[in-house]
Amino acid sequence: DSLSTSPAPEGTTPDSSAVTAAPSGHIGHWISGARTSGTGATTAPVTNPATGQVTGQVQLASVDDVDAAVAAAAAAFPAWRDTSLSRRSAVLFRFRELLNERKPELAAMITAEHGKVLDDALGEVSRGQEVAEFACGIPHLLKGGFTENASTKVDVHSVRQPLGPVAIISPFNFPVMVPMWFFPVAIACGNTVVLKPSEKDPSASIWMAELWKEAGLPDGVFNVVQGDKVAVDRLLTHPDIASVSFVGSTPIARYVYETGTKAGKRVQALGGAKNHMLVLPDADLDLAADAAVNAGFGSAGERCMAISALVAVGGVGDDLVAKIVERTATLRTGDGTRGADMGPLVTQVHRDKVASYVDAGEQAGAAVVVDGRDVTPDGGADGFWLGPTLLDHVTPEMSVYTDEIFGPVLSVLRVDTYEQALELVNSNPYGNGTAIFTNDGGAARRFQNEVEVGMIGINVPIPVPMAYYSFGGWKNSLFGDSHAHGTEGVHFFTRGKVVTTRWLDPSHGGLNLGFPTNA
Ligand code: NAD
Repeated sequence: DSLSTSPAPEGTTPDSSAVTAAPSGHIGHWISGARTSGTGATTAPVTNPATGQVTGQVQLASVDDVDAAVAAAAAAFPAWRDTSLSRRSAVLFRFRELLNERKPELAAMITAEHGKVLDDALGEVSRGQEVAEFACGIPHLLKGGFTENASTKVDVHSVRQPLGPVAIISPFNFPVMVPMWFFPVAIACGNTVVLKPSEKDPSASIWMAELWKEAGLPDGVFNVVQGDKVAVDRLLTHPDIASVSFVGSTPIARYVYETGTKAGKRVQALGGAKNHMLVLPDADLDLAADAAVNAGFGSAGERCMAISALVAVGGVGDDLVAKIVERTATLRTGDGTRGADMGPLVTQVHRDKVASYVDAGEQAGAAVVVDGRDVTPDGGADGFWLGPTLLDHVTPEMSVYTDEIFGPVLSVLRVDTYEQALELVNSNPYGNGTAIFTNDGGAARRFQNEVEVGMIGINVPIPVPMAYYSFGGWKNSLFGDSHAHGTEGVHFFTRGKVVTTRWLDPSHGGLNLGFPTNA
C-alpha cells in the first residue's frame, strides 16, 4: 500500500464508554485506556474494498509510539498480575457479554474494511468470542499440581505465572478473530498486551479496546499500536516485551520468529498455507462439491484454512468438476452488505496479483473452467472484484499450485491413487489444514495418521479447532512449538514454577551435602 504523509491529526479522547461503529476518518492508537495519534508523521489509506473508496487514514506508529504503548503495558502489569483470578475472570465475563450484545456492529466494521460478507464477518466474531468464553474459565485452567509428602514431610506444588507485557501482531484476513485467538487468554493469565493489527483493516482493534474499557479492564492492560514494519521491528526487540504471537505470511512469520527469539523472546509465529482437500472414489460427491465451493470461495479465499488444491482421486475428477461448476454458477459476488455470497478482495494490488496467477495457470496449460476475471459484481465499479475461479488439470509445477494465492481460485489436480494424493500433501512445504472426503473409515483413519498437517477434517472442509483445542499448523505454517488458544495458549502465556516445601518440626536438623533424593 502506498503511504502518504500528512500532519498528525489531533488525538481524540472519547467519552470513556462510547463504542463507535463508523470505521471512518482517522484511526489512531490506544494507549493507557485512551485514543492517541502518537508522534508518527505517516499514515496509510484504509479502503472499502467493495467501493474502492478511501474511508480513512490509519496512523503508522513511530518507535516512540511503540515505546509509549510498551511502557503503559509494563506499568499496568504489576497490579494486573496481582489482581485476583475472580476479578480477572469477572472482567472477561463482562467483555464476553458486551461483545455478544454488540457483535453486529463489529461485523459491519470488518465488512467495511476487509470486504468479507456480513454473515461471514459475524461468524468470525463468534469464533473469536469462543476464545473469550474459554478464557472465562481461567481459574480452572491455571490450577497447579500438589503432591503431599513427596519426600518425608516435604510437599511439592506447581504454579504458572504470567510473562509480562506481550505483543500480538495480526494479519488482515481476520481483524477480530486472530487477535482474539491470543488476547483473551493472555489477559486472563495476568499479562498485559500490545496489539499491532494489520494496517489494512485497523478499526476493529480500537472498537475492541473501547469494549475492554467498558468491561472494566484497567487502563494499560490492553493497548493497540497501528503500524507497519517499523512498529513490528520495535516490538520484536523491545527489552520489555516478553513474548510475541504473530500470524501472517510465511516469510514474515519466519522473520518474526528468528528476530524475536534472537532477542530472547518466546515466539509463536503462524504462517501461510496451501490446503489440500482429497476426494476419494467412494465419497459423496454432492457433499464434497458443496464443501469445495464453501471452503474455496468463502471469504474470497482469503482464509488461512481455505481449500485451494482439490485432489480428485481415482477418476472422480469429471463428475466432481461438473458438480462444482453447477454450484459456482449460483454464487453472487458483490458488496458484503447486500447479501452477496462472496465479497471483493482486500486491495486492488492483491486482486491483480491473484488474477495474474490465473493468467499464469492458463498459460501453463490449466483449463479455466470457471473464470472469475470477467465477473459482473453487485458492487461499486471501483471495487476489487474477482469472481470464483476454477482451474482444472493443474499440475504440481504450476505456480497456481506451488504458491499460496489467497484468493477465490480453486485448482483441481487429478491423481490415480490415495498414495499419490498423500504424497502431494506431504511434499508441500506448508502444513496448516487439510481435508479428506470419503465414506471409508479405514482410509480416513490412515490419512489422519499419515498426513503431515496440523489440522485435519474428515468430511469437514475447514477444520478450525474449537477454542478449547489449539489452532496451528506444521512445517512452514508455524514457527515455534506452541499453537494458539486452548491449553497450549495458556501454557504459552505463562511460565511454570515448582515449589518444594518443608515445614520443619522443631526436633529435626543435620547436615547432608549429598544431592537431594527422595526418602
Ligand atoms: P502479512 O505477513 O503481510 O502481514 C501480517 C502482519 O505482519 C501485519 O500486521 C503486517 O503489518 C506485518 N508485516 C508485513 N510485512 C512486514 C515486514 N516486512 N516486517 C514486519 N512486519 C510486517 O500477512 P497478511 O497479508 O496480512 O495476511 C495474510 C497471510 O496470513 C496469509 O499468508 C495467510 O495464510 C496468513 N494467515 C495465517 C494464519 C494461520 O493461522 N496460519 C491465519 C490467518 C492468516
